[in-house]
Amino acid sequence: MNVGVLALQGDFLEHKQMLRDLGAQPVEVRLPGQLDGLDALIVPGGESTTIGKLAVTYRLLEPLREFARHKPVWGTCAGMIMLARNIGRDQPLLGLMDITVNRNAFGRQVDSFEIDLDVPALGPQPFRALFIRAPLVTAVGEGVEVLARLDGQGIVAVRQGHWLATAFHPELTGDARFHRYFLGEMSGLLLAE
Ligand code: GLN
Repeated sequence: MNVGVLALQGDFLEHKQMLRDLGAQPVEVRLPGQLDGLDALIVPGGESTTIGKLAVTYRLLEPLREFARHKPVWGTCAGMIMLARNIGRDQPLLGLMDITVNRNAFGRQVDSFEIDLDVPALGPQPFRALFIRAPLVTAVGEGVEVLARLDGQGIVAVRQGHWLATAFHPELTGDARFHRYFLGEMSGLLLAE
């Protein structure tokens, strides 16, 4: 099973390691042709304005949208912003998911934090989530499933069919359950125990 990680900017190396640990073959994607033969794709965290600009430069936006029509895609943090349809400002996006996202909703880099989240789809154990200049989902359309909320603040993980978005960074905290959920539950790929 070949799982692409968009490797234009951001923390794609950490996702690759997580994928390897689960027995998947990670593939760095920088050019449209590199999407061929992939079973799923992860859009990592980083800086969504930079990722968007580079995606335009490398003529990736349309091929990525085309790929995402039938294949599972997961965006973390900046990746969540890339997947959103509406972020209230003009920058290049994939614009797939019917969600409204507020960038940098928690303030600046120094306002980054870690917290235990209740994510019923992953089981009873709380999920330790790391928020780094994270976005927040402020509205969801029909057909969008809310997977996690941050107490009193809003929505931080959503699924719409074969698309997943998390405002935090499961690739950085050593708990592979979100990667397992994406690969196993959503992509139907067989994972090593
Ligand atoms: N604040 C960044 C953005 O707007 C996202 C930060 C992240 O991915 N950790 O793109």
